[in-house]
Amino acid sequence: MRLGLTLRTLDGATTELSVIDGHFRPPGEPVDRELDTAGWWAVPGLADCHAHLGGGYADDHGDSDETLARTMANAWAQLQGGVFLVADKGGGDRVTLRVLDEPPTTRPELHMAGRFITNPGGYYAGFAREVDQDELLATVRDETGGGATWVKLVGDWPRKGQGALTNFTEEAMHQAVQVAHESGCRVAIHAAAPDTSSVAVAAGIDSIEHGLFITQDDLAALGARGGAWVPTLAAMEAVGNMLGLESTGGKLFGRGLDNVREILAEAPAAGVTVLAGTDLEVPHGAVAAEALKLADYGLAPADVVHAVTDGAYAYLGSDHSFSPGGHADVLFFDADPRTDLTILQRPVLGLRHGEVVVGSIGAD
Ligand SMILES: [Zn+2]
Repeated sequence: MRLGLTLRTLDGATTELSVIDGHFRPPGEPVDRELDTAGWWAVPGLADCHAHLGGGYADDHGDSDETLARTMANAWAQLQGGVFLVADKGGGDRVTLRVLDEPPTTRPELHMAGRFITNPGGYYAGFAREVDQDELLATVRDETGGGATWVKLVGDWPRKGQGALTNFTEEAMHQAVQVAHESGCRVAIHAAAPDTSSVAVAAGIDSIEHGLFITQDDLAALGARGGAWVPTLAAMEAVGNMLGLESTGGKLFGRGLDNVREILAEAPAAGVTVLAGTDLEVPHGAVAAEALKLADYGLAPADVVHAVTDGAYAYLGSDHSFSPGGHADVLFFDADPRTDLTILQRPVLGLRHGEVVVGSIGAD
């Protein structure tokens, strides 16, 4: 169906466009329906920048059609929540990359990592490529293939009797970043332990995942080179609760979250791109719940909305301009989400490549 739309963006600008064959076209072309969207607010979609479309670790994994079917179900759930852009930060297998071959109206735009990379014993058993230092660079190079645009390192993991230790040296991380960048991929790192964020920032890692103990100096260095931080607060709270708040690990997570609460608000001014990520805690499609967590931890409402919409599109290099020729991806809210962030949880209409995937335009 050919549609006519008015798009009012968060900067207050208003654009009239047609939607024809999945693309925006200039206004005035013949359409089947003019939609009265002038009073709504339009964004290119919500963005989940730390998801695992392959699912949770309790799921069976392996290179199977079942894995692909589960991945596609999760991708569809993301679309239905208005999440039209997803950065998938790794999985237990590479079958999830096959979702890139599926039609764009059945999944979000995807920026994906392949398998997790860590050192021996450095992650949930059986879910990562566990490699010695001398195999690291070849493994990174290997994981840049198959459509991956990210490489995911597991930067720390608890070791028996020693607590959480950083898995790689700064030099090893630095070389991994160089190899990934040569192949056109960015590098994300799981950083939950006290030293990992600082080592990773010094090593030039692109995106700090969790970053519980990130420091103000780290933010300055990361921001100066346009880096990103994805705190995944709902997931970090869940891990702390699971460990038990009085346990050694639970106390560590509590201290880390206190640190985030102290410095999160300053991150955008330091130049850091703060992003929202669901990880394994928030259901696929519900990244707005993580956006509310970012606000709970002190991020200003306009920065929260930016993190979960335009900021993520800009960071991932997704063309999201509402202009003729672009893919017709747009999500509407009937009120300004900056005045009430819970509005992010209630989009009224969403088009993905021109197809209605959120709400309905009703019958004529
Ligand atoms: Zn994760």
